Amino acid sequence: MADLFSPVKYLKGVGEKRAELYAKLGIYTVYDLLWHIPRGYVDYSNPVKISQAENDLRTAVEGVVKKKFPEATANGIKLYKVLASDGENDFKVVFFNNRYAYDALGEGKSYIFYGKVSGNLLSKEILSPTFIPAEQREKLVPVYPLTAGLSEGIIRLNIKSALSCLDGMYDYLPKEVQSENLLCTLSYAFENIHFPEDERALSLAKKRLSFDELFILQIGMLFLKRKNRSRTGFKMQRLEIDEFFDSIPFELTGAQKRAINEAVSDMCSEIPMNRLLQGDVGSGKTAVAAAICYFAHKNGCQSALMAPTEILAAQHFNTLRSFLEPLGVNVCLLTGSVSSKEKEKIKKLLSQGDFSVAVGTQALIQNSVEFKNLGLVIADEQHRFGVMQRATLSGKGESPHRLVISATPIPRTLGLIIYGDLDISVLDELPKGRIPIETYAVTGKLRERAFNFVKKQLAEGRQAYIVCPMIDENEFTEGLKAAKSYAEEIEKSFEGFSVGLLHGKMKGSEKEKIMADFKAGKIRLLVSTTVIEVGVDVPNANIMLIENADRFGLSQLHQLRGRVGRGSHKSYCVLLTDNLSAEARERLKIIASTSDGFEIAKQDMKLRGCGDFFGERQHGLPLLKIAELDSEMLSQARNSAIKTIKSDPELLGHPKLKAEAERLFKKAGEDIFN
Ligand code: ADP
Ligand code: MG
Repeated sequence: MADLFSPVKYLKGVGEKRAELYAKLGIYTVYDLLWHIPRGYVDYSNPVKISQAENDLRTAVEGVVKKKFPEATANGIKLYKVLASDGENDFKVVFFNNRYAYDALGEGKSYIFYGKVSGNLLSKEILSPTFIPAEQREKLVPVYPLTAGLSEGIIRLNIKSALSCLDGMYDYLPKEVQSENLLCTLSYAFENIHFPEDERALSLAKKRLSFDELFILQIGMLFLKRKNRSRTGFKMQRLEIDEFFDSIPFELTGAQKRAINEAVSDMCSEIPMNRLLQGDVGSGKTAVAAAICYFAHKNGCQSALMAPTEILAAQHFNTLRSFLEPLGVNVCLLTGSVSSKEKEKIKKLLSQGDFSVAVGTQALIQNSVEFKNLGLVIADEQHRFGVMQRATLSGKGESPHRLVISATPIPRTLGLIIYGDLDISVLDELPKGRIPIETYAVTGKLRERAFNFVKKQLAEGRQAYIVCPMIDENEFTEGLKAAKSYAEEIEKSFEGFSVGLLHGKMKGSEKEKIMADFKAGKIRLLVSTTVIEVGVDVPNANIMLIENADRFGLSQLHQLRGRVGRGSHKSYCVLLTDNLSAEARERLKIIASTSDGFEIAKQDMKLRGCGDFFGERQHGLPLLKIAELDSEMLSQARNSAIKTIKSDPELLGHPKLKAEAERLFKKAGEDIFN
């Protein structure tokens, strides 16, 4: 018999073929299958007669299959119909393109169907229902995330076998953690997450498994944090950098000074800095980066600053150059659009140590560049990089210091999850004299008026952004066409002003040209996709109009809005949308009513759930299958994890727990123990 960690193919009723399908769901072992958490539960316990079923509602109806009609095709859709009777009335059961379901029904047999009911009194139908044989009537039946070829029924059957592999004694959670947090046992949790006794048992199961995910995540993070604490080859001297402060064109905010001090202290210790710099848009993160590059330079070390896009790399290059070159620091730029001849020259000078600071996109800096003594690595807009990349950043040199910069303010609780392996500095203060951005949400009916308002600003010498509909860097030809034709329309409406178009499918050099022209004021109105989302800094631009604003996440809107309000002019953000759903309105109300990125992030998470908020690819952490980011549970899990590691730093007394953390992080590509 298969045991808990056998490949799933050895499980009774699975085999090679189904194992391949399970692999598509990320399920390789029997144990993985147990973690295949239902996406919901169907209550089959109280089926009604079809005459009592209300149209358009999901309902459980019991019936005997009287007849299976032959397959039919309509508009390219394969229809499978079945006639059933509940003893009083006949009704039809209809499946679309779902032969599996149809084949599973036997004539003369009795089932409980669960699905949307439609039709009239004479002829009722139940559409694409799930169903169970009537004799298997259970209270709450799990509904699973599916893949083609694996039906609900098969998955339920396989999970039942998987549960029988679960030794009731198997549990990786330290006993005291279980009791302190009032958690049920692991086997009880698995039994009841899949086949709940009742609602109460289900909620106990959810609590236990959610806690486990957060707990294991924290255990892993704590290991990761420790792993990164090998000695650095770049312990620095606490040299003063007053000349930097004196030469930049503004007085740093208190928060900036504090962050610089924290970084400097880190860099003067034996252990490499491993710090996150978090701050709202416009809080001046680049100046902090520049200051510590200068500090590294004074200590005879090189720095690398990596940005997620070429536009940003070019902008940082210009900023850093303007701050640092007057102080005698040589800065270079490495991006895809630098000619290969030029690149070779730059690389040679870098390897000789002639440049102190290299700015570039991360691919360029990571892959092919040799430094003479790279002591500091900075990654900007870190949320696009993720934990895994964080680890590879330090691949060069002898454990350089690392600073990651994030412009996505996140609530502290989430920060602890995602950045549990880092120390955190927060810029919670904006530079003085910033005038708050006025934000309005309006419907498309007011587009003309909004355009006129933009024109008025342009006429006064300002510049403007319009973020256009449905296009982002990942959408291809169709979206592009929309962007282009939209830009053409805009050009017509804004006759007399120079209009530029920026989108993600342009070559790096084209983008840079457009951005440079916009910065220089040659382009007055920039129609753009979300490529301008992060970091772009044009102080003269004071109005941003966002089409289809409801399509963006709140944090993304906040980022976009952060492109304006950077100069001395009063700035505006106009959100256009025709989506008048209560949710859309609620969201836009939030963004219009506050400019605090942390508050917005909190609300955003509340509305969307954390999975959506970040998305696995962005933070690179193991995906949470069940845990919600409940801050109370999170801090309990974190405290328990800290206690556990404190009392048993190598988890020698908890081999199962260690294996569990290892498994989870390996799935995300991170080997935390080596
Ligand atoms: P972000 O934190 O969003 O990356 P930037 O570093 O791009 O912000 O800074 C935004 C703008 O504010 C830039 O034009 C920058 O020169 C300016 N700035 C930064 N710090 C200060 C400060 N202490 N006082 C005034 N302006 C500042
Ligand atoms: Mg920035």
